[in-house]
Amino acid sequence: MMKEKIHEQFQKHFGGSGDFYASAGRINLIGEHTDYNGGFVFPGAIDKGMMAEIRLNGTDRVRVCSVDLNDSAEFGFREEDAPSASWARYIFGVCMEIIKSRGPLLKGFDAAFAGDVPLGAGMSSSAALESTFAFALDDMLGLGIDKFELARIGQRTEHNYCGVKCGIMDQFASIFGKAGSLIRLDCRSLEYRYYPFHPHGYRLVLLDSAVKHELASSAYNRRRTSCETVVAAVKAAGHPWVEFLRDVRPEMLEEVRGKVSAEDYMRAEYVIEEIQRVIDVCDALERDDYGTVGAKMYETHHGMSRLYEVSCPELDFLNDLARECGVTGSRVMGGGFGGCTINLVKDNLYDEFIAKAVREYAARFGHEPKIYPVVISDGARKLE
Ligand code: ADP
Ligand code: MG
Repeated sequence: MMKEKIHEQFQKHFGGSGDFYASAGRINLIGEHTDYNGGFVFPGAIDKGMMAEIRLNGTDRVRVCSVDLNDSAEFGFREEDAPSASWARYIFGVCMEIIKSRGPLLKGFDAAFAGDVPLGAGMSSSAALESTFAFALDDMLGLGIDKFELARIGQRTEHNYCGVKCGIMDQFASIFGKAGSLIRLDCRSLEYRYYPFHPHGYRLVLLDSAVKHELASSAYNRRRTSCETVVAAVKAAGHPWVEFLRDVRPEMLEEVRGKVSAEDYMRAEYVIEEIQRVIDVCDALERDDYGTVGAKMYETHHGMSRLYEVSCPELDFLNDLARECGVTGSRVMGGGFGGCTINLVKDNLYDEFIAKAVREYAARFGHEPKIYPVVISDGARKLE
Protein backbone atom coordinates (compact mmCIF):
# COMPACT_ATOMS: atom_id res chain seq x y z
CA MET A 1 0.00 0.00 0.00
CA MET A 2 2.65 2.50 1.09
CA LYS A 3 5.04 1.01 -1.44
CA GLU A 4 2.60 1.56 -4.33
CA LYS A 5 1.95 5.14 -3.26
CA ILE A 6 5.69 5.85 -3.15
CA HIS A 7 6.38 4.17 -6.46
CA GLU A 8 3.65 6.15 -8.18
CA GLN A 9 5.34 9.41 -7.14
CA PHE A 10 8.79 8.08 -7.95
CA GLN A 11 7.68 7.26 -11.49
CA LYS A 12 5.90 10.55 -11.89
CA HIS A 13 8.91 12.61 -10.80
CA PHE A 14 11.85 10.57 -12.01
CA GLY A 15 10.58 7.72 -14.21
CA GLY A 16 11.58 4.06 -13.90
CA SER A 17 12.21 2.53 -10.52
CA GLY A 18 14.74 2.34 -7.67
CA ASP A 19 15.49 0.21 -4.63
CA PHE A 20 13.27 0.23 -1.58
CA TYR A 21 14.56 0.83 1.93
CA ALA A 22 12.72 1.22 5.21
CA SER A 23 13.29 2.04 8.83
CA ALA A 24 11.20 2.33 11.95
CA GLY A 25 9.95 4.55 14.71
CA ARG A 26 10.51 3.34 18.24
CA ILE A 27 9.08 2.92 21.71
CA ASN A 28 10.99 2.82 24.97
CA LEU A 29 9.54 0.20 27.30
CA ILE A 30 11.24 1.56 30.40
CA GLY A 31 14.22 3.78 31.37
CA GLU A 32 13.26 7.45 31.26
CA HIS A 33 15.63 10.32 32.16
CA THR A 34 18.30 7.68 32.62
CA ASP A 35 20.29 8.46 29.47
CA TYR A 36 22.00 11.63 30.69
CA ASN A 37 22.67 9.91 34.02
CA GLY A 38 24.82 7.21 32.43
CA GLY A 39 22.08 4.61 32.90
CA PHE A 40 20.08 2.26 30.67
CA VAL A 41 17.26 2.73 28.21
CA PHE A 42 15.24 -0.12 26.73
CA PRO A 43 13.86 0.74 23.30
CA GLY A 44 12.58 -1.29 20.38
CA ALA A 45 11.69 -0.51 16.76
CA ILE A 46 7.99 -0.58 15.86
CA ASP A 47 5.76 -1.47 12.93
CA LYS A 48 5.38 2.18 12.01
CA GLY A 49 8.17 3.65 9.99
CA MET A 50 9.46 5.30 6.89
CA MET A 51 9.92 3.83 3.44
CA ALA A 52 11.85 5.25 0.49
CA GLU A 53 12.46 4.33 -3.13
CA ILE A 54 15.92 5.51 -4.12
CA ARG A 55 18.14 5.45 -7.20
CA LEU A 56 21.50 7.05 -7.91
CA ASN A 57 21.07 9.67 -10.63
CA GLY A 58 24.63 10.09 -11.92
CA THR A 59 24.83 13.75 -10.85
CA ASP A 60 26.03 15.47 -7.69
CA ARG A 61 22.54 16.64 -6.77
CA VAL A 62 19.71 15.15 -4.78
CA ARG A 63 16.07 15.32 -5.84
CA VAL A 64 13.62 14.11 -3.28
CA CYS A 65 9.87 13.99 -3.02
CA SER A 66 7.87 13.73 0.19
CA VAL A 67 4.73 11.81 -0.70
CA ASP A 68 2.94 12.59 2.58
CA LEU A 69 3.61 16.32 2.46
CA ASN A 70 3.15 16.52 -1.31
CA ASP A 71 6.35 18.54 -1.54
CA SER A 72 9.72 18.16 -3.22
CA ALA A 73 13.21 19.54 -2.79
CA GLU A 74 16.49 19.59 -4.66
CA PHE A 75 19.94 20.27 -3.24
CA GLY A 76 23.67 19.78 -3.69
CA PHE A 77 26.33 18.81 -1.15
CA ARG A 78 27.59 22.19 0.03
CA GLU A 79 26.50 23.83 3.28
CA GLU A 80 24.98 26.68 1.32
CA ASP A 81 22.76 24.20 -0.54
CA ALA A 82 20.74 23.47 2.61
CA PRO A 83 17.06 23.24 1.64
CA SER A 84 14.57 25.41 3.46
CA ALA A 85 11.83 22.79 3.99
CA SER A 86 12.39 21.27 7.42
CA TRP A 87 11.59 17.72 6.27
CA ALA A 88 14.30 18.00 3.56
CA ARG A 89 16.91 19.20 6.06
CA TYR A 90 16.85 15.75 7.68
CA ILE A 91 17.91 14.20 4.39
CA PHE A 92 20.38 16.97 3.57
CA GLY A 93 21.85 16.57 7.07
CA VAL A 94 22.33 12.84 6.60
CA CYS A 95 24.17 13.50 3.33
CA MET A 96 26.40 16.13 4.90
CA GLU A 97 27.20 13.98 7.92
CA ILE A 98 28.08 11.04 5.68
CA ILE A 99 30.47 13.31 3.80
CA LYS A 100 31.99 14.52 7.08
CA SER A 101 32.46 10.95 8.23
CA ARG A 102 33.51 9.29 4.94
CA GLY A 103 34.80 12.03 2.67
CA PRO A 104 33.33 13.01 -0.70
CA LEU A 105 32.18 9.52 -1.69
CA LEU A 106 28.55 10.46 -1.73
CA LYS A 107 26.72 10.57 -5.06
CA GLY A 108 23.53 12.29 -6.18
CA PHE A 109 20.26 10.38 -6.00
CA ASP A 110 16.53 10.61 -6.62
CA ALA A 111 14.10 9.46 -3.95
CA ALA A 112 10.44 9.43 -3.01
CA PHE A 113 9.45 8.53 0.53
CA ALA A 114 6.49 8.24 2.87
CA GLY A 115 5.86 7.09 6.42
CA ASP A 116 3.28 6.25 9.02
CA VAL A 117 5.00 7.27 12.26
CA PRO A 118 2.80 9.96 13.77
CA LEU A 119 4.81 13.20 13.80
CA GLY A 120 5.86 14.56 17.16
CA ALA A 121 3.98 11.89 19.14
CA GLY A 122 7.13 10.53 20.80
CA MET A 123 7.80 7.65 18.41
CA SER A 124 10.62 9.47 16.64
CA SER A 125 9.48 9.90 13.07
CA SER A 126 12.60 12.02 12.54
CA ALA A 127 14.95 9.16 13.47
CA ALA A 128 13.01 6.85 11.15
CA LEU A 129 13.57 9.34 8.36
CA GLU A 130 17.29 9.80 9.05
CA SER A 131 18.03 6.13 9.46
CA THR A 132 16.18 5.15 6.27
CA PHE A 133 18.42 7.45 4.24
CA ALA A 134 21.63 6.78 6.16
CA PHE A 135 21.14 3.03 5.82
CA ALA A 136 20.15 3.25 2.15
CA LEU A 137 23.07 5.46 1.10
CA ASP A 138 25.58 3.31 2.94
CA ASP A 139 24.15 0.19 1.32
CA MET A 140 23.83 1.54 -2.21
CA LEU A 141 27.31 3.05 -2.27
CA GLY A 142 28.97 0.23 -0.31
CA LEU A 143 30.47 2.70 2.16
CA GLY A 144 30.86 0.10 4.92
CA ILE A 145 29.68 2.40 7.67
CA ASP A 146 29.04 0.44 10.86
CA LYS A 147 25.64 0.52 12.50
CA PHE A 148 26.68 2.72 15.40
CA GLU A 149 28.11 5.26 13.04
CA LEU A 150 24.86 5.22 11.03
CA ALA A 151 22.98 6.01 14.24
CA ARG A 152 25.44 8.80 15.04
CA ILE A 153 24.99 10.26 11.56
CA GLY A 154 21.28 10.58 12.35
CA GLN A 155 21.97 12.07 15.76
CA ARG A 156 24.43 14.61 14.34
CA THR A 157 21.91 15.49 11.65
CA GLU A 158 19.48 16.50 14.39
CA HIS A 159 22.18 18.46 16.23
CA ASN A 160 23.71 20.22 13.26
CA TYR A 161 20.89 20.65 10.74
CA CYS A 162 17.62 20.50 12.70
CA GLY A 163 18.44 22.26 15.98
CA VAL A 164 17.53 19.29 18.19
CA LYS A 165 20.10 18.28 20.82
CA CYS A 166 18.95 14.69 21.12
CA GLY A 167 20.68 11.66 22.62
CA ILE A 168 21.47 8.51 20.65
CA MET A 169 18.51 6.29 21.68
CA ASP A 170 16.08 7.07 18.86
CA GLN A 171 18.51 6.54 16.03
CA PHE A 172 20.05 3.56 17.81
CA ALA A 173 16.65 1.84 18.08
CA SER A 174 15.71 2.69 14.53
CA ILE A 175 18.94 1.21 13.13
CA PHE A 176 19.44 -1.76 15.50
CA GLY A 177 15.78 -2.74 16.04
CA LYS A 178 14.71 -6.36 15.47
CA ALA A 179 11.29 -7.99 15.47
CA GLY A 180 10.61 -9.76 18.77
CA SER A 181 13.44 -7.97 20.62
CA LEU A 182 13.95 -4.95 22.78
CA ILE A 183 17.47 -3.59 23.19
CA ARG A 184 18.98 -2.53 26.46
CA LEU A 185 21.45 0.24 25.75
CA ASP A 186 23.98 1.28 28.34
CA CYS A 187 24.14 5.02 27.73
CA ARG A 188 27.57 5.29 29.32
CA SER A 189 29.52 2.52 27.58
CA LEU A 190 27.14 2.17 24.61
CA GLU A 191 27.16 -1.58 25.15
CA TYR A 192 23.87 -3.13 24.18
CA ARG A 193 22.06 -6.39 24.49
CA TYR A 194 18.93 -7.80 22.86
CA TYR A 195 16.20 -9.23 25.10
CA PRO A 196 13.28 -11.34 23.87
CA PHE A 197 9.97 -9.55 23.77
CA HIS A 198 7.14 -11.92 22.89
CA PRO A 199 4.14 -10.69 24.81
CA HIS A 200 1.77 -13.50 23.80
CA GLY A 201 -1.71 -12.65 25.01
CA TYR A 202 -0.84 -8.97 25.42
CA ARG A 203 -0.81 -5.92 23.22
CA LEU A 204 1.27 -2.79 23.41
CA VAL A 205 -0.65 0.39 22.81
CA LEU A 206 0.23 4.07 23.11
CA LEU A 207 -2.39 6.56 24.22
CA ASP A 208 -1.46 9.99 23.00
CA SER A 209 -2.69 12.72 25.33
CA ALA A 210 -2.24 15.11 22.39
CA VAL A 211 -0.95 17.78 24.76
CA LYS A 212 2.49 19.31 25.10
CA HIS A 213 3.05 21.59 28.04
CA GLU A 214 5.43 24.46 27.62
CA LEU A 215 7.24 23.63 30.84
CA ALA A 216 9.16 20.85 29.17
CA SER A 217 12.49 22.38 28.19
CA SER A 218 13.15 24.60 31.22
CA ALA A 219 12.08 21.79 33.54
CA TYR A 220 14.37 19.40 31.69
CA ASN A 221 17.35 21.67 32.29
CA ARG A 222 16.47 21.97 35.98
CA ARG A 223 16.23 18.19 36.31
CA ARG A 224 19.68 17.81 34.80
CA THR A 225 21.06 20.37 37.22
CA SER A 226 19.52 18.49 40.17
CA CYS A 227 21.19 15.28 39.03
CA GLU A 228 24.57 17.01 38.73
CA THR A 229 24.17 18.61 42.14
CA VAL A 230 23.58 15.24 43.79
CA VAL A 231 26.51 13.66 41.95
CA ALA A 232 28.76 16.46 43.24
CA ALA A 233 27.48 15.97 46.80
CA VAL A 234 28.07 12.20 46.69
CA LYS A 235 31.59 12.71 45.31
CA ALA A 236 32.32 15.16 48.14
CA ALA A 237 30.96 12.67 50.67
CA GLY A 238 33.87 10.29 50.12
CA HIS A 239 33.12 8.76 46.71
CA PRO A 240 35.36 10.72 44.35
CA TRP A 241 35.10 8.12 41.57
CA VAL A 242 31.38 8.74 41.06
CA GLU A 243 30.70 10.14 37.62
CA PHE A 244 26.94 9.77 37.13
CA LEU A 245 23.88 8.90 39.23
CA ARG A 246 24.37 5.48 37.62
CA ASP A 247 27.27 5.02 40.05
CA VAL A 248 25.28 5.99 43.13
CA ARG A 249 23.85 3.17 45.22
CA PRO A 250 20.82 3.89 47.43
CA GLU A 251 22.92 3.86 50.61
CA MET A 252 25.28 6.45 49.10
CA LEU A 253 22.31 8.69 48.34
CA GLU A 254 21.21 8.26 51.94
CA GLU A 255 24.60 9.65 53.07
CA VAL A 256 23.87 13.00 51.42
CA ARG A 257 20.32 13.38 52.68
CA GLY A 258 20.29 16.77 54.43
CA LYS A 259 23.30 17.95 52.38
CA VAL A 260 21.20 18.43 49.25
CA SER A 261 17.72 19.93 48.95
CA ALA A 262 14.73 17.66 49.48
CA GLU A 263 13.84 18.29 45.86
CA ASP A 264 17.25 17.30 44.48
CA TYR A 265 17.19 14.21 46.70
CA MET A 266 13.83 13.16 45.29
CA ARG A 267 15.03 13.64 41.72
CA ALA A 268 18.07 11.45 42.32
CA GLU A 269 15.98 8.85 44.09
CA TYR A 270 13.81 8.50 40.99
CA VAL A 271 16.79 8.16 38.63
CA ILE A 272 18.59 5.59 40.77
CA GLU A 273 15.42 3.50 41.09
CA GLU A 274 14.66 3.85 37.40
CA ILE A 275 18.07 2.55 36.34
CA GLN A 276 17.50 -0.50 38.54
CA ARG A 277 14.00 -0.97 37.12
CA VAL A 278 15.40 -1.37 33.60
CA ILE A 279 17.61 -4.19 34.86
CA ASP A 280 14.65 -5.76 36.70
CA VAL A 281 12.47 -5.63 33.60
CA CYS A 282 15.19 -7.31 31.52
CA ASP A 283 15.44 -10.09 34.11
CA ALA A 284 11.65 -10.45 34.09
CA LEU A 285 11.57 -10.76 30.30
CA GLU A 286 14.06 -13.60 30.41
CA ARG A 287 11.50 -15.43 32.61
CA ASP A 288 8.58 -14.36 30.38
CA ASP A 289 7.19 -12.64 33.46
CA TYR A 290 5.04 -9.88 31.98
CA GLY A 291 3.29 -9.28 35.30
CA THR A 292 6.55 -7.94 36.76
CA VAL A 293 7.24 -5.94 33.61
CA GLY A 294 3.86 -4.25 34.02
CA ALA A 295 4.34 -3.60 37.73
CA LYS A 296 7.66 -1.86 37.00
CA MET A 297 5.98 0.30 34.38
CA TYR A 298 3.52 1.54 36.99
CA GLU A 299 6.40 2.20 39.38
CA THR A 300 8.06 4.30 36.70
CA HIS A 301 4.92 6.32 36.21
CA HIS A 302 4.61 6.90 39.91
CA GLY A 303 8.25 7.98 40.13
CA MET A 304 7.98 10.32 37.16
CA SER A 305 4.81 11.82 38.58
CA ARG A 306 5.69 12.15 42.28
CA LEU A 307 9.49 12.18 42.53
CA TYR A 308 10.76 13.52 39.23
CA GLU A 309 7.58 15.58 38.75
CA VAL A 310 7.48 15.52 34.98
CA SER A 311 3.94 14.21 34.52
CA CYS A 312 0.79 16.30 34.00
CA PRO A 313 -2.93 15.88 34.76
CA GLU A 314 -3.67 14.35 31.35
CA LEU A 315 -1.00 11.65 31.70
CA ASP A 316 -1.87 10.89 35.31
CA PHE A 317 -5.50 10.55 34.25
CA LEU A 318 -4.60 8.02 31.53
CA ASN A 319 -2.41 6.12 33.97
CA ASP A 320 -5.15 5.97 36.63
CA LEU A 321 -7.60 4.82 34.02
CA ALA A 322 -5.30 1.99 32.96
CA ARG A 323 -4.98 0.86 36.55
CA GLU A 324 -8.76 0.94 37.07
CA CYS A 325 -9.24 -1.18 33.95
CA GLY A 326 -6.77 -3.80 35.18
CA VAL A 327 -4.18 -3.01 32.49
CA THR A 328 -0.95 -4.94 33.24
CA GLY A 329 1.45 -2.01 32.84
CA SER A 330 1.16 1.68 32.04
CA ARG A 331 3.42 4.70 32.24
CA VAL A 332 4.24 8.00 30.60
CA MET A 333 6.72 7.45 27.77
CA GLY A 334 9.32 10.08 26.90
CA GLY A 335 10.44 13.13 28.80
CA GLY A 336 7.03 14.00 30.24
CA PHE A 337 4.72 17.05 30.37
CA GLY A 338 2.63 15.54 27.58
CA GLY A 339 2.92 12.97 24.83
CA CYS A 340 1.91 9.34 25.23
CA THR A 341 1.42 6.69 27.83
CA ILE A 342 2.65 3.22 26.86
CA ASN A 343 0.39 0.38 27.97
CA LEU A 344 0.81 -3.38 28.18
CA VAL A 345 -2.73 -4.72 27.94
CA LYS A 346 -4.14 -8.25 28.03
CA ASP A 347 -5.91 -9.10 24.74
CA ASN A 348 -9.25 -9.66 26.42
CA LEU A 349 -9.19 -6.24 28.11
CA TYR A 350 -8.04 -4.30 25.10
CA ASP A 351 -11.30 -3.18 23.47
CA GLU A 352 -12.92 -2.27 26.75
CA PHE A 353 -9.86 -0.31 27.91
CA ILE A 354 -9.57 1.68 24.69
CA ALA A 355 -13.28 2.49 24.58
CA LYS A 356 -13.28 3.64 28.18
CA ALA A 357 -10.08 5.66 27.78
CA VAL A 358 -11.40 7.49 24.72
CA ARG A 359 -14.76 8.20 26.35
CA GLU A 360 -13.54 9.32 29.74
CA TYR A 361 -10.53 11.28 28.53
CA ALA A 362 -12.70 13.21 26.08
CA ALA A 363 -15.27 13.91 28.78
CA ARG A 364 -12.56 15.25 31.09
CA PHE A 365 -10.27 17.14 28.69
CA GLY A 366 -12.52 17.98 25.74
CA HIS A 367 -10.60 16.00 23.11
CA GLU A 368 -9.97 12.33 22.47
CA PRO A 369 -6.58 10.71 22.99
CA LYS A 370 -5.10 9.19 19.85
CA ILE A 371 -4.64 5.43 19.93
CA TYR A 372 -1.52 3.81 18.46
CA PRO A 373 -1.22 0.02 18.73
CA VAL A 374 2.42 -1.00 18.15
CA VAL A 375 4.26 -4.25 17.47
CA ILE A 376 8.01 -4.59 18.00
CA SER A 377 9.50 -4.96 14.52
CA ASP A 378 12.64 -4.67 12.40
CA GLY A 379 14.62 -1.45 12.13
CA ALA A 380 16.54 -0.15 9.08
CA ARG A 381 16.63 -2.59 6.18
CA LYS A 382 16.50 -3.04 2.44
CA LEU A 383 13.19 -4.36 1.13
CA GLU A 384 13.47 -7.18 -1.38
P1 ADP B 1 9.28 13.06 16.28
O1 ADP B 1 9.16 13.05 17.76
O2 ADP B 1 8.16 12.30 15.64
O3 ADP B 1 10.63 12.65 15.82
P2 ADP B 1 10.17 15.58 15.30
O4 ADP B 1 9.60 16.94 15.45
O5 ADP B 1 11.52 15.29 15.86
O6 ADP B 1 9.07 14.57 15.84
O7 ADP B 1 10.24 15.21 13.76
C1 ADP B 1 9.14 15.43 12.93
C2 ADP B 1 9.65 15.97 11.60
O8 ADP B 1 10.20 14.90 10.82
C3 ADP B 1 8.52 16.52 10.77
O9 ADP B 1 8.28 17.88 11.08
C4 ADP B 1 9.07 16.36 9.35
O10 ADP B 1 9.99 17.39 9.05
C5 ADP B 1 9.85 15.06 9.46
N1 ADP B 1 8.96 13.93 9.09
C6 ADP B 1 8.52 12.96 9.90
N2 ADP B 1 7.71 12.10 9.25
C7 ADP B 1 7.66 12.55 7.98
C8 ADP B 1 6.98 12.10 6.80
N3 ADP B 1 6.19 11.01 6.82
N4 ADP B 1 7.15 12.82 5.67
C9 ADP B 1 7.93 13.91 5.65
N5 ADP B 1 8.59 14.38 6.73
C10 ADP B 1 8.46 13.72 7.88
MG1 MG C 1 12.38 13.59 16.50
